[in-house]
Amino acid sequence: MRLLCTNDDGILAVGIETLVRAAESLGEVHVVAPDREQSATSHSLTLHHPVRPVQRGERRWQVDGTPTDCVLLAVQALMPGRPDFVLSGVNHGQNMGEDVLYSGTVAAAMEGLSLGIPSIAVSFAATDLRADAQRLTDQTELLARLLAHLVALRLPADTLLNVNLPPLPPDAVKGVRVTRLGRRVYSNSLTPMRDPWGRQIFWIGGGSAEWSGEPDSDFQAVRDGYISVTPLRLDLTHYDVLTSQESWWRDL
Ligand code: MN
Repeated sequence: MRLLCTNDDGILAVGIETLVRAAESLGEVHVVAPDREQSATSHSLTLHHPVRPVQRGERRWQVDGTPTDCVLLAVQALMPGRPDFVLSGVNHGQNMGEDVLYSGTVAAAMEGLSLGIPSIAVSFAATDLRADAQRLTDQTELLARLLAHLVALRLPADTLLNVNLPPLPPDAVKGVRVTRLGRRVYSNSLTPMRDPWGRQIFWIGGGSAEWSGEPDSDFQAVRDGYISVTPLRLDLTHYDVLTSQESWWRDL
């Protein structure tokens, strides 16, 4: 099996090393990852300047672009053939609920899927990875077992899997729950400040995050000490509205 590993935290991140070590038990691993952090870049594609791949070892490339750029370059130029799976992560921090709309980690998996390759995004739900980096690397073997299981599933072709690992020692992880996306409510995520010249600026991010989620949500699973696996698809069509409002245009 040929696997592409990428991320949004950059090629030097602890998380991608953990992912690569876990994936190596499954097959031939190729790494094509951003040369710096690209968190919250979502599904952005670099259109206005060129991107340059630099080889950092055998089957290992860094790119001065976004996670989406990396997947595109990997599949269409850098890899000797199409990967059987795109694996993205392990992200430093959770990607649950609405996070998936901002996440570069999840977007890389979406790009894989839109290129027709089954894809899995993996995130480590710790709030401070500097404190919890060892906990992440301690989960390498657990992640290897999980990935072996997930890549063997026979899922519809339009499925991507969004995995969140609880920040626990591996023997304290209770198991796996298949979940749906919860809802995140950010408060104070915009901080007004002054620049050195006294002009007003804003720093986006931080703040406290509250969540609301059903018992079968990703948030609840991780809070309960389980690995959360949420099946996602790219089609954002609201089918309930589509089928219930078939005639709304007729009065126009
Ligand atoms: Mn990230």
